[in-house]
Amino acid sequence: MAQKILIVEDEANIAQLLHLYLEKEGYEAQIAPDGGKAVELFRSFGPDLVLLDIMLPVMDGWSVLNKIRAESKTPVIMLTAKGETNDRVTGLEQGADDYIVKPFETKEVLARIRAVLRRTLGSEEEGSGGKKLIFDKLVINLEAYELMVDGKRIDTPPKELELLYHLASAPNRVFTRNQLLDEVWGFDYFGDSRTVDVHIKRLREKLEGISEQWSLKTVWGVGYKFEVTTA
Ligand code: CA
Repeated sequence: MAQKILIVEDEANIAQLLHLYLEKEGYEAQIAPDGGKAVELFRSFGPDLVLLDIMLPVMDGWSVLNKIRAESKTPVIMLTAKGETNDRVTGLEQGADDYIVKPFETKEVLARIRAVLRRTLGSEEEGSGGKKLIFDKLVINLEAYELMVDGKRIDTPPKELELLYHLASAPNRVFTRNQLLDEVWGFDYFGDSRTVDVHIKRLREKLEGISEQWSLKTVWGVGYKFEVTTA
C-alpha cells in the first residue's frame, strides 16, 4: 500500500509541484492549503508523514504542529524560509522531525521524506533487539556500556556513551542542545547547553578521523547530528 503524505502549503504552485512529484514517486498525496484544512485532513486522510509550511492562512504551522503532536507521533517535516534558524530550532523542539529550507529541490524533499520514514519505522522495530548500534569501525553498546572504535575498546563515561547512542540511533537527525539535555540528562538536570558541547568535544577526540562513513557534526545555530553518508 502506498505511503500517504499530507502537503500543507498555501502557495499553490509549490503544493502542486510537490503533489505531482510525490505521486510520481509512488506516494499517495493530498494538499491542505491552510492550517484549518491541515488539521482536518490530518484526521481524515491519516498520513504517514506531513510536510508542513509555517506561514499559513487560518492557523500557522506551529499551531498545526501542536495539534498533530497532541494526538500522534506522525513524522512532520517543516518547510522553513531561508535563514530562519530560529524557526528550525523551535520546530525541532516542538517535535518536528526535520526541516527543509525553501527554496528547495524536489529531489531533496524526497530524500528527506525517505530518511524520516526509514528512521521512524526503524525505531519501532528496535524493541527487544538489544541496545547496540553498529557502524563502520564503530560499535556503541549501551547494554554493556562499551564503545568499540576500530576494534579497540575505548573507555567512555556513561553520559558520553548515552549521548553518542542517542545521536547515532537517529542518523542524520539534528538535535538541539536543549533536546539532548532533556533526552539524555533528563528534565530535572541543572546543567546548561555547554554541558552538551563539552561531551561532544570529548567524543570527537575519540572518534575523529576513524571512518568516512559517519561523523559527529555541528549544525551551526541549531545543534548536533550523527551524520551517516551512504556510499
Ligand atoms: Ca506559506
